[in-house]
Amino acid sequence: MLPEVARAWEYLTRTAQELFARYGYEPIYTPLFEHTEVFTRGIGEATDIVSKEMYTFTDRSDRSLTLRPEGTASVVRSALEHSLVPQGSYVKLYYAGPMFRYERPQKGRMRQFWQIGIECLGAAEPSVDAEVIAVLIRFFEAVGIPLENMRLLINSMGDETCRPAYRETVATFIRDHGEALCEECNRRAETNPLRAFDCKNPGCVEVMAEAPLFRDELCDECADHYEAVKEYLDGLGITYEEDPKLVRGLDYYTRTVFEVQVDAGLGSQNAIGGGGRYDRLMEQYGGKPTPGLGFALGFERTLLALEAAGVEIPAPPLAEVYVARVDESVSGMAFGFTSALRETGIAAEMDHQARSLKAQFKQADRLGARLTVIVGPDELDAGEVTVRDMGTKEEVRVPIEGMAGRIAALLA
Ligand code: AMP
Repeated sequence: MLPEVARAWEYLTRTAQELFARYGYEPIYTPLFEHTEVFTRGIGEATDIVSKEMYTFTDRSDRSLTLRPEGTASVVRSALEHSLVPQGSYVKLYYAGPMFRYERPQKGRMRQFWQIGIECLGAAEPSVDAEVIAVLIRFFEAVGIPLENMRLLINSMGDETCRPAYRETVATFIRDHGEALCEECNRRAETNPLRAFDCKNPGCVEVMAEAPLFRDELCDECADHYEAVKEYLDGLGITYEEDPKLVRGLDYYTRTVFEVQVDAGLGSQNAIGGGGRYDRLMEQYGGKPTPGLGFALGFERTLLALEAAGVEIPAPPLAEVYVARVDESVSGMAFGFTSALRETGIAAEMDHQARSLKAQFKQADRLGARLTVIVGPDELDAGEVTVRDMGTKEEVRVPIEGMAGRIAALLA
C-alpha cells in the first residue's frame, strides 16, 4: 500500500475505531497464521475457502499452518483459549488487518486483501443482530458512501432444528434438476447444497430461482428471531431487502445473515461487507454453547465504492507550516523554530537542502502548508520572522518571542 492508499486505510480504521468504540467494541489482534485446523473446523471443509482458497504450508516442525483467510475463526479460537466471554454476558471485539485467499484476482478481488470486522460473543438476542447490522451501515455512511448507493440484504439460515431438513429439501431439488445445473452444483447436492444459491452460472441462477425457500421452512424459534431482528431494524429506520437466497459462503452461519452491496463501481464483486450469526461455532471449537455474530467489511471494495460515489478521502496536509530560510546563516534558527512549532502541536516542515526561496515556496505548496515562516538575517536582527499566508500571499512580521503561539492563533 503506497502512501495515498495507506492514508485511506488509516482513515477507514480511524473511523471504524471511533464508531465501534461508541458501540462498546474493544480491539483484538490475532496472528496472521494459525494451525490449519482452526479454519477447517470453523469455516467448513466443503466451503470454497477451505477447499480451494487457503494458503497452507508446513513449518519446520511439519505442522500444517494457514494464512488467515478471514477473521472470525481466529477471534473465536482466541476467545475460547483466553476465556474472554464472561459468564452470562457477552464480549464485543473488533479487528483490522490483511486476509489471504487464493482466489482468481480481478477488480475488487485480491489474494491479499484487508478487512475490518466486529464480533459479539455471548449474546443470542435479536436486538444484537440489529445492532451489528447498524454498525456496518453506520460505518459505510460515516466514511462517506451515500445511503442510496447501498443495498442491505438480510436472510435467516435457520438453526440445527430446521436447517438439516431444508438442506435435504434443496439437495433433493438439485438432484431433480441435475441436468440443468452445472457440475459443481450437482456436487454441492452431496456436500453443501445451499451454496448452489450462490452459483453465478446463468443456467443455475435460473433453476435455483425456483427452489424452495428457507423462509417457508424455518422453525418457530428461528422465524420469531428473524421477525424480531426486522422489527429492531425498522425501529432504527434502516431499510433492508429480504433475500431468501442469501446464503453466505461459510458453514458456520446460523439464523441471521446479511450483506451490503453497492451498484456503482464494483462490477460483479459488489459486496462490500457482510456477516451473520454463528451460534454453534464456539462448540465446534470445544467450548460451551455460546452464541455469537459479527461482520467483516473489505477495505479495497470500500475504497472502490467511495471512488464511484466521488467521495474524496480527507487527507490532512503533510505540513501546516513550512519554515523557509533565506540563506544558510540562519539554518540553526530555522531548525529550532521548526522544532518549536512541532512541539506546539503544529505539523511543520523545513528546508534541509538550502534550496532557493522560490523552490522552498513550491515545496510549501506541495506539502499543503497554509503558512510559511521566512527566516532571514535581517528579520532575525530585528528579533522577528516573516509569516507568509500561502493563500493570499500576504506577509506579516511576527516577533520571535512567543512565535509558535502566534502562529497557532493564525492557523486557528
Ligand atoms: P467474507 O469474509 O467473504 O464474508 O467477505 C467480507 C468482505 O470482505 C466482502 O464483503 C469484501 O468486501 C471483502 N472481501 C472478501 N474477499 C475478498 C477478496 N478476495 N478481495 C477483496 N476483498 C474481499
